[in-house]
Amino acid sequence: MVDSIQAVEGRHTSGLYNKQPITLVRGEGAWLWDERGRNYIDCTSGQGVANLGHGRIEIARAIAEQAQRLITCPETFFNDQRAALMEELTALTPGLERVFFCNSGTEAVEAALKFSRYSTGRKQIVATMRGFHGRTMGALSATWNKKYREPFEPLVPGFIHVPYNNLEAMQTAIGEDTAAVILEVVQGEGGVYPATPDYLLGVQALCRERGALLIIDEVQTGFGRTGRMFAYQHYDLQPDLLCVAKSLAGGLPMGAVLMGERVRALSPGLHGSTFGGNPLACAAARATLRILQREDLPAQAARKGTYFMERLRQIRSPLIREVRGLGLMVGVELKQKVAPYLSLMQERGVLALSAGLNVIRFLPPLVIREAQLDRVVETLEEVLALGPDGAEEQGQN
Ligand code: PMP
Repeated sequence: MVDSIQAVEGRHTSGLYNKQPITLVRGEGAWLWDERGRNYIDCTSGQGVANLGHGRIEIARAIAEQAQRLITCPETFFNDQRAALMEELTALTPGLERVFFCNSGTEAVEAALKFSRYSTGRKQIVATMRGFHGRTMGALSATWNKKYREPFEPLVPGFIHVPYNNLEAMQTAIGEDTAAVILEVVQGEGGVYPATPDYLLGVQALCRERGALLIIDEVQTGFGRTGRMFAYQHYDLQPDLLCVAKSLAGGLPMGAVLMGERVRALSPGLHGSTFGGNPLACAAARATLRILQREDLPAQAARKGTYFMERLRQIRSPLIREVRGLGLMVGVELKQKVAPYLSLMQERGVLALSAGLNVIRFLPPLVIREAQLDRVVETLEEVLALGPDGAEEQGQN
């Protein structure tokens, strides 16, 4: 069975994914099981999607009930689930009253870029070095990593990248033709780098002063991940556009852009999405928001994130350069490549991610238990103690 599933996927692969040799079939809370019945502690959340934890009956029920009632309803008609979600979602983001629904993070970014150019009549977009915003052509133009960009050039013109957490560079970059600045409050794929409060407030002030819009990309940081419902809410920030996706609909594909009053409404035909705002995703998102608030998962993430980072900082290993993060978005930067250590952790029942070559990234479900976090720390300590030679030797087995 194992071989057949992996062989079948292998035969049909588009070649895009570095597969781990694990076949996942079931999840509950922060646990995942493979088809042989072996369990793993999940510190990936399906790359930041399963904030509520796996196997939520309430989400399954909301989806099943809505699927029986009405699965599809294009935005050319009104819909009860969409209207309710619009109210419930924008209630979490004061000052951002209007919303465009789509199906992924990269689509949310595409839409935000179009709204920005349209609203301002300007062309330039200022993005940040190490920033990640998606892989469709517009979002990719805002993404920094050359490896993702170069094979697909020419990209969309008008994008520049400036060093993150550097206000002077931003000051020089934002000009009369700047439509928007786009950035993450904590850079995720780029290596788990939180922005400093002064930087964020400084960028906001510059945008306002010079008539540019501020796009905050919370595709990875949203919905409790960093210890607040949205990461920008740690600070005195008011984005003009907020991009969200990942855990918005509890695991169903859904993205959204929330918009403030400086953003001009587009007219019919200028943008759109067949599946955007479909009642099935909206019903799942409503159930997700209900659970996030009822269980106060943002506060849980704040508390557990502090505990987790404290414990990680107690690991005595010469291989660790830095432990950093916000809430349950945590990076451990090593002085060397992390790949062999990730494999060793996997063999010991802990699934984690990399961010760049040198950072181990932890994005556990926000419901993860303290005992599970303890085991993650102990496992990391154990594999780091093997050192580079041990890691390579064991990694080859
Ligand atoms: N923006 C950020 C900050 C992200 O982390 C990601 C995905 N990792 C995206 C955009 C793209 O999201 P998606 O994969 O849903 O297109």
